[in-house]
Amino acid sequence: MLSYILRGGLSLLVCLWALLLPQVSLHRLSHHGRSDHSVRDRPKLLLVSFDGFRWDYIDRVPMPNFRTIMDEGVKVEYVENAYITKTFPNHYSLVTGLYAETHGIVANEMYDPVLNQSFSMETDSIYDSQWWEEAVPLWVTVQKSGGRSGAAMWPGSDVKIHGMFPNQYLQYNASVSFESRVGRIIEWLSAPKEEAVDFGVLYWEEPDESGHNLGPQSSLMDVVIAGIDEKLGFLLNELKKAGLYEKVNLIVTSDHGMAQLSTDKIIELDEYVSRDLYTWVDKSPVVGILPKEGKLDEVYSLLADANPNMVAYKKEDIPEHLHYQHNVRIMPILLESKEGWTIMQNRTGPFMLGNHGYDNTLRSMQPVFVARGPAFRQNYVKTSMRSVDLYPLMCHILSIRPLPNNGSLLNVQDLLILEPTTPAPITPHPPITPKANGYSYAPVVGSFLGVVMVLGFLVVYVILVTLKQRPVLKHRSWEMSQPLLQEDLHL
Ligand SMILES: [Zn+2]
Repeated sequence: MLSYILRGGLSLLVCLWALLLPQVSLHRLSHHGRSDHSVRDRPKLLLVSFDGFRWDYIDRVPMPNFRTIMDEGVKVEYVENAYITKTFPNHYSLVTGLYAETHGIVANEMYDPVLNQSFSMETDSIYDSQWWEEAVPLWVTVQKSGGRSGAAMWPGSDVKIHGMFPNQYLQYNASVSFESRVGRIIEWLSAPKEEAVDFGVLYWEEPDESGHNLGPQSSLMDVVIAGIDEKLGFLLNELKKAGLYEKVNLIVTSDHGMAQLSTDKIIELDEYVSRDLYTWVDKSPVVGILPKEGKLDEVYSLLADANPNMVAYKKEDIPEHLHYQHNVRIMPILLESKEGWTIMQNRTGPFMLGNHGYDNTLRSMQPVFVARGPAFRQNYVKTSMRSVDLYPLMCHILSIRPLPNNGSLLNVQDLLILEPTTPAPITPHPPITPKANGYSYAPVVGSFLGVVMVLGFLVVYVILVTLKQRPVLKHRSWEMSQPLLQEDLHL
């Protein structure tokens, strides 16, 4: 009799496994990201950075295209970016959700004492993967999750990182026009379904370049800023022409703002410390100082109170809120000048009228942030966010699992139409296939049937065992029956 029960039980367990299989498969696939979206249904996201676009530029001259995005989408007033407020660190923070000390691109110019190598925007060192691999940029994660990405000159996007380039990318070349970059992005986003890019990044060098040359307070900047709005208008129009305008989630932001400098506000290091005692690694307004061997305390004491418009930190004393300490690429001494001040060795070097890099809590250092698209609320203004919060937001929009990061989706979920905690609506008709919609009745029905069958199996099993044991149980306690059952099982 027991052998029949066992055979029946085994059959039931096989049935149970078969019923649960769809749920197990879906669970596994969703861990890998987005295989539960059909290719056609995958959300699309385009992240655009206009380098050095300060948050308040949009109120300076008429900006009809920025205004359109704000009316149709969202705007964030106060975006705290990552320290130091330079181009490479912040562009990598935007696509990793990490502060610079964690993603490893701590400055535009770096020295790594472990690698004994230097990184500079002026050399091919930027194409060396090892500088970038302390983090994983979003385009790599998208691709590892089964999606596709395309990059038009975003810093780091033409570097092989963790064995991958974006599926589509452009080798950096400053002479390629904005319109050409947009043309390629549109081409990638609207490619045939298997080749279409889900996540795109687009970078443009202005208004940073003009901001440095003219200074943000120059009236000539008005024309430059209006020109950025025209470029944005071109992008919006191209999205419309390609039928992508209502499908693509578009985020327009920047890496940092810009502060006005003055030749009256120059700090000359040669007045305080001999060049023989140190190497300066990153430049104004936040300077990484690498003292010569054994000279740390001497150099620090010479710089500590040298100038009231400059703070000198030993690495271990850099304020915690800056998240800028725990990386070998951060130098033993950090000099930070006050807003508007420039640190030079002497006055013979080139001088800029605008610069950035200062404390990320300064208003002048903060970037613009606007977004529109099917995922975003309309005509909504949010007070503040951190730029590291953008990464989990983008992962959510793209339906991929974020890697560990310094951001928080909770901080920015109000920008979205559907809050992440809200379950997707289930429409009972017509029948839904698991792959096309990302959710299904199969897990619920499967689990329910599984539970019913297991319970049924247990009830049948207990009844049959009870019947078999009835004469014995007259003389045995329940506990004593256990060994007998096991003996029977061995027969
Ligand atoms: Zn710049």
